[in-house]
Formats: sequence, structure tokens, C-alpha cells
Amino acid sequence: MIFMSQLRNCPECGRVFSYLHRNLCPRCLENEEDMFKDVRTFIKENPGATIVETSEATNVPEDTILRFLRDGRIVSQGLQSSIVLNCNRCGDVIKAGTHCQTCRDELNREIRNVSGAAAKTAPQKPAARSGDRMRILEDRKKNGR
Ligand SMILES: [Zn+2]
Ligand SMILES: [Zn+2]
Repeated sequence: MIFMSQLRNCPECGRVFSYLHRNLCPRCLENEEDMFKDVRTFIKENPGATIVETSEATNVPEDTILRFLRDGRIVSQGLQSSIVLNCNRCGDVIKAGTHCQTCRDELNREIRNVSGAAAKTAPQKPAARSGDRMRILEDRKKNGR
């Protein structure tokens, strides 16, 4: 597959590499793993450390620490209180990851709806169908309890 072995330039060192799932060449990825371990070890010993303190102690750039936080790879009270993460969808303040719990639930529901709609090839009689579904739900309620 062409998509599987897309060639890219590493944004860190400029080396050409075949893109898999991370936009970094294997060497920089390994380097990033080392930095990740340093940060993780440091915040375990210093749970209240801010990003600046962590960056100074580990020699890991603040941007990289921020990325670890955004990816949800590290969780630390001190780091989180020194930055503000926002939900990509609604902008709410979140503790980790890219979306707040509400939006994550909604996104999951949307994905389910889309795949459900795609499965229905003939959506001509939505009224009758929802009527059927209501009846099924009512039957299930009666039988279930
Ligand atoms: Zn690189
Ligand atoms: Zn949200």
C-alpha cells in the first residue's frame, strides 16, 4: 500500500523516513522515548514540579513536555496546574488528552450514528421504522421487568 510507506521529512532533524503513525523519524522517536522516560521519572519524584522546572531538570524542551501532556502520556498535578489544556471541540478546560468527557461521548455517538446510517441503504420510511423501534422498546420493557 502506498499509504503505509509514505516518505516524509522528519520535522526534528530533516531526515527522510517512511511515515507510519508518528511524524518523527525512528531515531528522533527513540530520542523522544528517552526524553519521555526522563520526564516521567522526574515528575514521579517531583509531582509538584512545573513545566519550566521539569524542562530545566530533564533538559527536555517545554514543547515536548507539553506534547506528552496533550497526548495524555504523562499525568502530573504540577504540570497540569502550570498549563491549560482545552478541548479541541468545545474549548472547555480539560486535564489531559484532546477532548473533554462530554465531547468524547458525543463523538463516539456520532461515529456510531454514521456507521448506523451507512448500514441502512433505504431510508425511505423513517416514520414507520421509528414506530417499529418504539414498539420493540416497549415490548422489551414489558418482557424485561
Ligand atoms: Zn529525525
Ligand atoms: Zn469538549
